[in-house]
Amino acid sequence: MPWEEVSGYDENMNTIRTYQVCNVFDNNQNNWVRTKYIRRRGAQRIHVEMKFSVRDCSSIPNVPGSCKETFNLYYYESDSDAATRTSPAWMENPWIKVDTIAADESFSQVDLGGRVMKINTEVRSFGPVSRNGFYLAFQDYGGCMSLIAVRVFYRKCPRIITNGALFQETLSGAESTSLVAARGVCIPNAEEVDVPIKLYCNGDGEWMVPIGRCMCKAGNEAVENGTVCRACPSGFFKPTQKDEPCMQCPINSRTTSEGAINCVCRNGFYRTDSDPLQMPCTTVPSAPQTVISSVNETSVMLEWLPPRDSGGREDVVFNIICKSCGGGRGGCTRCGDNVQFLPRQLGLTEPRVYISDLLAHTQYTFEVQAVNGVSDQSPYSPQYASVNITTNQAAPSTVSIMHQVSRTPDQPNGVILDYELQYYQKDQSEYNGTAIRSQTNTVVVRGLKPGSIYVFQVRARTVAGFGRYSGKLYFQTMTEEEYNTSIQEKLPLIIGSAAAGLVFLIAVVVIVIVCNRRRGFDRTDSEYTDKLQHYTSGHSECTRLSPFFQVTPGMKIYIDPFTYEDPNEAVREFAKEIDISCVKIEQVIGAGEFGEVCSGNLKLPGKREMFVAIKTLKSGYTEKQRRDFLSEASIMGQFDHPNIIHLEGVVTKSSPVMIITEFMENGSLDSFLRQNDGQFTVIQLVGMLRGIASGMKYLADMNYVHRDLAARNILVNSNLVCKVSDFGLSRFLEDDTSDPTYTSALGGKIPIRWTAPEAIQYRKFTSASDVWSYGIVMWEVMSYGEKPYWDMTNQDVINAIEQDYRLPPPMDCPSALHQLMLDCWQKERNNRPKFSQIVNNLDKMIRNPSTLKATTPLSSGVHLPLLDRSIPDFSSFSTVDEWLDAIKMGQYKDNFAGADYSTFDVVSQMTMEDILGVGVTLAGHQKKILNSVQMMRAQMNQIQSVEV
Ligand code: AMP
Repeated sequence: MPWEEVSGYDENMNTIRTYQVCNVFDNNQNNWVRTKYIRRRGAQRIHVEMKFSVRDCSSIPNVPGSCKETFNLYYYESDSDAATRTSPAWMENPWIKVDTIAADESFSQVDLGGRVMKINTEVRSFGPVSRNGFYLAFQDYGGCMSLIAVRVFYRKCPRIITNGALFQETLSGAESTSLVAARGVCIPNAEEVDVPIKLYCNGDGEWMVPIGRCMCKAGNEAVENGTVCRACPSGFFKPTQKDEPCMQCPINSRTTSEGAINCVCRNGFYRTDSDPLQMPCTTVPSAPQTVISSVNETSVMLEWLPPRDSGGREDVVFNIICKSCGGGRGGCTRCGDNVQFLPRQLGLTEPRVYISDLLAHTQYTFEVQAVNGVSDQSPYSPQYASVNITTNQAAPSTVSIMHQVSRTPDQPNGVILDYELQYYQKDQSEYNGTAIRSQTNTVVVRGLKPGSIYVFQVRARTVAGFGRYSGKLYFQTMTEEEYNTSIQEKLPLIIGSAAAGLVFLIAVVVIVIVCNRRRGFDRTDSEYTDKLQHYTSGHSECTRLSPFFQVTPGMKIYIDPFTYEDPNEAVREFAKEIDISCVKIEQVIGAGEFGEVCSGNLKLPGKREMFVAIKTLKSGYTEKQRRDFLSEASIMGQFDHPNIIHLEGVVTKSSPVMIITEFMENGSLDSFLRQNDGQFTVIQLVGMLRGIASGMKYLADMNYVHRDLAARNILVNSNLVCKVSDFGLSRFLEDDTSDPTYTSALGGKIPIRWTAPEAIQYRKFTSASDVWSYGIVMWEVMSYGEKPYWDMTNQDVINAIEQDYRLPPPMDCPSALHQLMLDCWQKERNNRPKFSQIVNNLDKMIRNPSTLKATTPLSSGVHLPLLDRSIPDFSSFSTVDEWLDAIKMGQYKDNFAGADYSTFDVVSQMTMEDILGVGVTLAGHQKKILNSVQMMRAQMNQIQSVEV
């Protein structure tokens, strides 16, 4: 081969060995030089750096035109070092050409003292390579050049720790543009926060595009540039896996070991569940100081100074313990319920209280306790200061008023800001009246004239402004003489009021007046004697009606989006806006009120992709439809409970407008049950009911009334978890006539079969009417999706309910469950169980499955004042086939006929083995047939006894 190995010098005059060729004067040159076998070592792309020099053709005197200034680079892959002088043949194919290489600089002079070369460096790469190794070859075809050095290498990304994860060394991919994904593994004591944890190795051996990350676990902090997670030292803690250092234990707390996730309080110090872990531990307050009392007849004002030591907390409140002493019996006893405390007796935030309605000439002791958020954790009673007083003579000119809050149909859920009570003497103009504002529903009115008739009215204020005044309530104060004789009989005066609109006077008011003041009314005044006659209904009501609209402190209350002046505001407040680019719609799964319901995927930045349901608003909607559609999101967005469908967010900034919720794989409960008739155990069914009740308890606690609780509005996921859904208002709207389930009634549409009688009759929708609907859902569930009241007309249903008929137990339904249904269907709504009681009841059944064993025996002869149509009477059918169809077991007709069970006589004698013997293998179906057979037997016996 004309390539020769010779010595020369580089630019720095170092001696080097080179391969040279310079046959420019001969035609048709084809000179090859080949490297030895090079192992691939896992690389997929090979880089070749060549140092060479080329002589400038024009610098060679008399050079022919065939002189070249370039050469070719080739490679050849092979699994072994098998090349010989003749193989692979010296030509392209089998060799694969990488490139023609030209010099950037050529040299034109030859230094006679040696050979001085201008050295060029070129890098080329090729791939993918897959055999065990390869050769490189350089082809000269008529140039004058020398090949000085060839460096062969591949690229890789090094082992690194980044984002809390370790990534092993990774070789670059086959193409220069390839990205090779590498999975990271969390370093010790770190855990994944975002998965997957990935980096990509690019063609240049650089890591890029980090995805996901690990963070040091709670109790550990990142050190050494985030490459190590170290346990928090003693006296330090870290409560979460966040990217933050360990914190020093707050005052009055300590750690018990290294790696603490919290610091425990020292003895005598405590923390409430809601205290942040960074907050110092606190203790109970000392006693209030210096209680001052000022007695005014049978009232007393107590004032005191706050405790010297609040225990380190800002939530100190005061409780008043009232004891009346003396009373002829010696010792002190707790005061009765009739003593009034203003603003209240327990949880006073201000250091004063007004106590009234005490007995005259009686000695009282008041203990003022100071308590704070951790008092209930201390083993000791709260510290208190006490004061003794003795009351004087009573005055007749004061009246305490508590007014009941009812809710109006048009604004069922508005939040009350405060109340205004207006009163004036009846024979004077209301324009001379006095108004008192109060944030509670209790007001004390003083300075009334004895022996006068007063008119009272209450109105409530919500964000929407004042509601209308209540109806007028008349009250006559006693004369001093009367008062002195009746002081022991005093009762509070209770007036009904309303949230924002209509206000109702309730029976109690007038009854109280009747109780107290019958003699004093002016019976010729028809304005109130009318009401008197109307409401006189017995004394027991005086005590039974709850005077308060209860709101549990700290509990979130549902806000009706329509109380917002701009309902879009409610959407913004309660629903997260999702960018449409995060949503991928996959298929249509149903039809909603406003458009299609689809399934799809939601990928929010930094979150795992999730399967979602997407409700869309069809195009061409009106502004009102858009508002109604989105109101469901504003409602749903306020809820957070495992048995309430979860809102992911809304898309309102692009079209179509969408509501995105978690996806419930098994769809709505009614159709799910129908498709799986007889397939679940009673415990599974009760588990579903428990979930629904728990969701409804949450809604009731939020003061939200669903109004359309039904199995069709419960969704079921793949774990059989049931969630309450359908918070839309649309189906109640008058103009929608598409769905026969909803029947027009005054003021909207009503799903008659599911709705409590008082809601049908006078639209009294409450959590108690939701309980009625829940009873119907129980029946739907236990009958695997049967239609309540079967094919009866709505009017028949209304009449039957009115006559105290109720649905009978579905087949195989445990008696305890049917009893619970009947409780939910109590006519008197206050007698129905609360959702919390229903949840407890179902929990008990689940814990003691034996209570679910008993079912109402079909032939027991117990007369249920009900509609028992769940098992058809066999005598109305002429063949076994017809009977099988009627009990929805028609698929077994051939089995029955094939085994000669073709008359009712033989069928009625069938046992469980016989049923199995004809080939009914599903447990639910076996039971259904056996029950129907037993029913048939019972009916036959009845017929026979009648015949006898
Ligand atoms: P709606 O308008 O809420 O009554 O929804 C109509 C139908 O769409 C329902 O009956 C369900 O079959 C289906 N659907 C609605 N929401 C979901 C969801 N979150 N997951 C699965 N299916 C749903």
